[in-house]
Amino acid sequence: MTITQNKVVSMHYTVKNDSGDVIDSSAGKDPLLYMQGHRNIIPGLEAALEGKSTGDKVQATIEPQQGYGEVIEELIQEVPRSAFEGVETLEVGMNFQAQSDQGPVNVVITKVEEEAVTVDGNHPLAGQTLHFDVEVMDIRDATEEEMSHGHAHGVGGHHH
Ligand code: ZN
Repeated sequence: MTITQNKVVSMHYTVKNDSGDVIDSSAGKDPLLYMQGHRNIIPGLEAALEGKSTGDKVQATIEPQQGYGEVIEELIQEVPRSAFEGVETLEVGMNFQAQSDQGPVNVVITKVEEEAVTVDGNHPLAGQTLHFDVEVMDIRDATEEEMSHGHAHGVGGHHH
């Protein structure tokens, strides 16, 4: 069986950034389960895996446009410290949910100053070229339930 639209794929993966640092990996864990063609994973990786078979090892370099997108400057904002009323200590790396015109967005604090705090609403991997090492462990047809949900169920997949 090969990976085509609607197949449920089980895979082991390691992803590194341009510096060679491991950003994420399934090593030592259950393989990741996803459903091809439903944007369960980034588009560049779906494209690299299309047509592959069980046991195939795939290396793919994925540019930001096919990954988590480019960094959007407008999503980096300076807000007054008073916006965090009730929060005792503010530190770089803390995550908050902020309200925007497009609904709630997750932001991370990137700078803390006397009067102002800089927050970044970009995906942590935005702007990064990603280097994937993937091993295709298993491929199967999606169940009817998975088809109606648009994602894979089971260990390594979506839980309800
Ligand atoms: Zn589901």
